[in-house]
Amino acid sequence: MQPAIFLDRDGVINENRADHVTSWDEFVPVHGALAGLRMLAESGLPVFVLTNQAIVGRGQLTAGALDALHARMCAWAARHGGAIRQVYYCPHDAADRCGCRKPAPGMFYQAARDHDIDLTRSYYVGDALTDVAAGQTAGCATILVRSGRGLTQLLRQQAQSYSGYGVAGDLPHAARFITHDHARRTGRVSLFSTMRLAVNSVQFV
Ligand SMILES: [Zn+2]
Repeated sequence: MQPAIFLDRDGVINENRADHVTSWDEFVPVHGALAGLRMLAESGLPVFVLTNQAIVGRGQLTAGALDALHARMCAWAARHGGAIRQVYYCPHDAADRCGCRKPAPGMFYQAARDHDIDLTRSYYVGDALTDVAAGQTAGCATILVRSGRGLTQLLRQQAQSYSGYGVAGDLPHAARFITHDHARRTGRVSLFSTMRLAVNSVQFV
């Protein structure tokens, strides 16, 4: 079993839209997302995207159109040195009470089965408290980024009932931490990466 890196999509890779991202034209990268994806690819760990897309279940976007959007996202990342192994999405609404819509951990379990992943040695980056809950339930080291909804989420009253997750400015910041932490766990940490991390430390709360 291998560790992996899981990423939320909206607010981590692309900007959230109030009326949802339904086409490639509406896919606006979060500043620094490409750099973050490139750094994660260089870590050698497989990267997966796990995203709630209730608009599919509500009929606002077909599964085929969402697959096409994700194919373009993966190609876009690959052109710039990133590597997204696979995208998993939950098409359901909260009312469907499925096991895959985050904060439920179903998508993590599915990816772990499909790709022989050790979730307890894996990482998850999201921008919402529901992401923190999902990542922690799945057993991953979980990082909340302040991009997307992250900053407002951190200021919410409910944030106080969560602990044990890291807070990073954006995906590159989270990627530096993950790369270093993975190297440390596997005994391949270098003085250079330690120094670089010291400048960009991720606070765990
Ligand atoms: Zn679902």
